[in-house]
Amino acid sequence: MNQSPPLAEIFSQGDEIVSGQTTDTNAAWLSEQLVRMGFQVTRHTAVGDRLESLVELLREIASRADSCICTGGLGPTSDDLTAEAVAAAFDRPLITDLDALVQIEAHFTRTGREMPLVNLKQALLPDKSARIDNQWGTAPGFSLRHGRCWFAFLPGVPFEMEHMFLETVRPELTRTWRLDPMQLVTVRCAGIGESAIQERLGCVAFPDKVRLSFRTGPIENQIKLLFQPDVPQADIQALAERVAGAIGSPVFGIDGLEQDSGDLVTVIARQLTQNHQRLSVLETLSAGAIASRCGGARWFKESRVIRDRAEVFKHLAVSCPADSNEESSGKEASVLASALAEHCGSDFALAQLWNFDDRALADRNAVISVYTGLATPTGTCEHSCKLTGTASRKQTVAATQALDLLRRYLQGCL
Ligand code: ATP
Repeated sequence: MNQSPPLAEIFSQGDEIVSGQTTDTNAAWLSEQLVRMGFQVTRHTAVGDRLESLVELLREIASRADSCICTGGLGPTSDDLTAEAVAAAFDRPLITDLDALVQIEAHFTRTGREMPLVNLKQALLPDKSARIDNQWGTAPGFSLRHGRCWFAFLPGVPFEMEHMFLETVRPELTRTWRLDPMQLVTVRCAGIGESAIQERLGCVAFPDKVRLSFRTGPIENQIKLLFQPDVPQADIQALAERVAGAIGSPVFGIDGLEQDSGDLVTVIARQLTQNHQRLSVLETLSAGAIASRCGGARWFKESRVIRDRAEVFKHLAVSCPADSNEESSGKEASVLASALAEHCGSDFALAQLWNFDDRALADRNAVISVYTGLATPTGTCEHSCKLTGTASRKQTVAATQALDLLRRYLQGCL
């Protein structure tokens, strides 16, 4: 099938999006989904809480796109205008959907609250629209066709929107259009910067039928390979493996082939769960960031957060060296990790040291050194790195570096 792909638009509603208070992650997420499915995404538009602007945009989209996914503006407050705008744009009066009302009431009962009267508004749907059930929140969505376009209206909360898209909207889109899905493969790495990735990929030849892009962040870096529909599976597999091979040990997994690896924590979780092993962590710089990424999991035994260097040593009954240098700090982190593993009775323990300089932490231009020690059933190992950027970035990267040291040990690439 070589006909041109159907055109899709994404429309985000709300003053907080237009004013920059909320980053429009819904549009990015939806776009990726739609492109993979085989749509050509032609526009993202964000519109504030103004009825006339919404009405005008809805009419324009109805005349130029085959499909449009709109998020936000379905809540109970006076600035939630989506249903009203649809009613005005397409001349479809709002009618109370009794099933929606029952579902909204049930949501409040389940969460032990009485339904405020303002929430009645969320059961008002445009005439002849199809309700999209929301089992994850209060606001139901709805879909309808007008002009050449099929519209789906979903809540703004990303978690609810994503579930509703995957459960209801995506199946409906694949029923309606004969799509040629693209295949997205994501090579996921930690502990390597963007430029190093680019350099290592210098030796890989990318055919025309694959689009290469990068997503970078403090938690992981991703290399995205978007393949045209007619690329054979064996070629996709081979290129993904060539990319992973060229990057080497920073690659912790690949998504989009047979089985998704998931994120760094998922990769660690899989292995520790399988081996019935547990991890304890002593957090200093990361201030609880490791626990917040792993917390609640059975394999995560405990996290202790201590912000003072002398206290760290005292807590684990390890003698605190009078002065440390670049060379000795890594060793000290390993000694602390061993003491922690023994203290907690866990198979693995991570401990981190830094120079405990709050001014350098707060200064986005200051570079700080972080030393991570890992205790394992077969001995200890350590890693050091230099971090810069805002305090919260430094803390997130410190947490990632610690988890990645464990991941490298588990995957046998230390
Ligand atoms: P609710 O019933 O929760 O009010 P809603 O459909 O009215 O749902 P909004 O009020 O527009 O949604 O947004 C609710 C929250 O969802 C926002 O405060 C914001 O945190 C998040 N949100 C909304 N739109 C987006 C978006 N485009 N990208 C990312 N987050 C968003």
